[in-house]
Amino acid sequence: MTFAAAGGITFILVQNGQNWSIWWFMAITVLSVVRAAAGRSVTREMILAPRGPRMERWRTMLVIGLLVSSGLWAILAILASYDDEAVAYPLAIILSALAAGGTGILAPMVWPARIYIGAMLLPGSLLMFERTGTGLVMTSLGMLFLWVMFIVHNRNHLALRKSIALAQDNSTLVSELRGLNTDLEAEVERRTRALTIAAYTDSLTNLPNRRKLIQWLEKELDAEVGSQVAVLFLDLDRFKQINDALGHAIGDQVLLETASRLSRALPPHGILARWGGDEFVLALAPRPNALEEALGLSEMLIKAIEEPFRANGQVVLPGLSVGIALYPRDADNLVGLLLAADLAMAEAKRTGRGRTACFDPRYAREQKRRFDISRALPDAIAAGELSLHYQPIIDRTTGRRHAYEALARWHHTPLGAVKPDEFIAVAEESDMIVALGDWVMTKACSDAAQWAGGDVGTRVAVNVSVRQLSDDKFALKIARILAETGLAAGRLELEMTESVFADEALPIVRATLESLRALGVSLAIDDFGTGYSSLSRLLSLPVSTVKIDKSFVAELSGSGGAVIESTLLIARRLGIAVVAEGIETAEQAEVLGALGVDLFQGYYFGRPTEIKRRTVSLSDDSETPSMAAKYTCTPRSAAKC
Ligand code: C2E
Ligand code: MG
Ligand code: MG
Repeated sequence: MTFAAAGGITFILVQNGQNWSIWWFMAITVLSVVRAAAGRSVTREMILAPRGPRMERWRTMLVIGLLVSSGLWAILAILASYDDEAVAYPLAIILSALAAGGTGILAPMVWPARIYIGAMLLPGSLLMFERTGTGLVMTSLGMLFLWVMFIVHNRNHLALRKSIALAQDNSTLVSELRGLNTDLEAEVERRTRALTIAAYTDSLTNLPNRRKLIQWLEKELDAEVGSQVAVLFLDLDRFKQINDALGHAIGDQVLLETASRLSRALPPHGILARWGGDEFVLALAPRPNALEEALGLSEMLIKAIEEPFRANGQVVLPGLSVGIALYPRDADNLVGLLLAADLAMAEAKRTGRGRTACFDPRYAREQKRRFDISRALPDAIAAGELSLHYQPIIDRTTGRRHAYEALARWHHTPLGAVKPDEFIAVAEESDMIVALGDWVMTKACSDAAQWAGGDVGTRVAVNVSVRQLSDDKFALKIARILAETGLAAGRLELEMTESVFADEALPIVRATLESLRALGVSLAIDDFGTGYSSLSRLLSLPVSTVKIDKSFVAELSGSGGAVIESTLLIARRLGIAVVAEGIETAEQAEVLGALGVDLFQGYYFGRPTEIKRRTVSLSDDSETPSMAAKYTCTPRSAAKC
């Protein structure tokens, strides 16, 4: 810009005969070239580090260049002749324009800029007045203009400083925010990772959870070609009893130990996940011999879990039931595969626990049957489909019938004869058991009240579910039924399983049992030994009888005999009567009698059967031949019991 202005004014001066201006032009040209070259030496690094030594040097050069340039313009203003207006006005315009430009371009500087602006305007303005005489107005305007230019420059300078300070603040803020953002991003990433892990991990055992298992299986089922994927559904046996009897803390320890034992047996191509509660699933990636491998693994796992657990000084003995299903043999999709393995596991449980069952389509049919039962049962009472059979309980010492146990029977069209084990379990899952239990109780009391002959005065034992006992009006209900049917309270015995101890409603159950006892009703614990209660715990309830489960009688020569012996020992001390259930042979009766069992029940003494009104189908002779013959009766004569 300076160069162009210099060229223009030199041309005017030369036209006016002022040829010295050519030298001036050459000087300003050299200066412009030097300044331009110096300007090009500014690098990006110098701008990024403006306080560096190179930048300082450049700044000094800039100021020198500027002062020299302003000096040259001042010289021009001094040397130029203003006689001719053709010189005076263009020169005044050019100097004013350069001064005005300087207020903006030189805003970053203070004194060099003021000198520059002053050099542009001051000499010219003063000389114009002095040399032209008539230029006073122009001189005054020049001075005013100079003053305004100083003010404008000052403002520009301040505005520039402010904007630089603001820009610096902003950049600090931005970099701080950027730092904050980086921290935030790292934290979000860490938490997302933790959440992802948590979403796919079981919090108690740290094993993969159900979601992770499904994801893994989806991939394996997709990859499966020509070989089979095996799924082992694992369920701890007796875990509920352990949890209820020993507390949840020990329950958790058992689950942790289970997870660790199962993990140790996990092959590298498998996954072990906690399905929920005491259920685990182990799946194996496709293998040609999937079934053999799964069966071998299952046996190993069962053995590993059968080893006694020690938790908080307590020894617990859980077991493991395993269900195996194969893809695509047993199911053609993931949901079906898991369901098949689950059904197989339920079968393993039903058929004795601590064993392996492989999926069979029959299991699905049976499940369908359970579903049908649950739908048909509510109408069974109203439709008159239920009936009661009675099984005798024999007193060893007198050989007389001590009681009859009332056992519900259901014949449904089209389901056919439904076993109590089937429909009672279904009823217990809902409140249906209450209506069913009410019907059984009323019918049993009313039947017993009408028994004749040798059965006059024989007790009736009725099974009650914990759901019935946890109704705080249950004792009142019994009192009403006894009153309505005319049965003496002393002739009624209620049988309940050890599950009463596990129930949350135990305080209500306890109060109900106390009231029943006060009424004169006797109480028995059924299937004793299958739960986790000890005899001493039973004492906390007003129980007068325990019924040893038939599974121990079936194993009399083995561990069953030891359980029966120790039960008898304690029961005798506590004054509790003992019934042995499920006696099927004379030998069993003989051994149990020798051990000191008070009361016998089983097919050997009589199967559950109907007792017709006032005519008892069983012998009216209350003394059983088998008793009279001191355990030497044949099953045939026993059937007469
Ligand atoms: P429970 O109370 O332990 O009844 C004894 C079960 O053992 C009966 O099975 C009986 O038929 C069977 N049993 C008796 N002697 C022998 C024997 O020598 N060998 C074998 N293998 N079994 C024998 P049932 O009638 O099938 O009843 C099964 C269970 O269903 C009963 O077991 C009881 O827990 C339940 N139950 C039956 N009726 C009712 C009821 O009205 N209410 C409730 N809550 N449960 C009932
Ligand atoms: Mg019973
Ligand atoms: Mg029983």
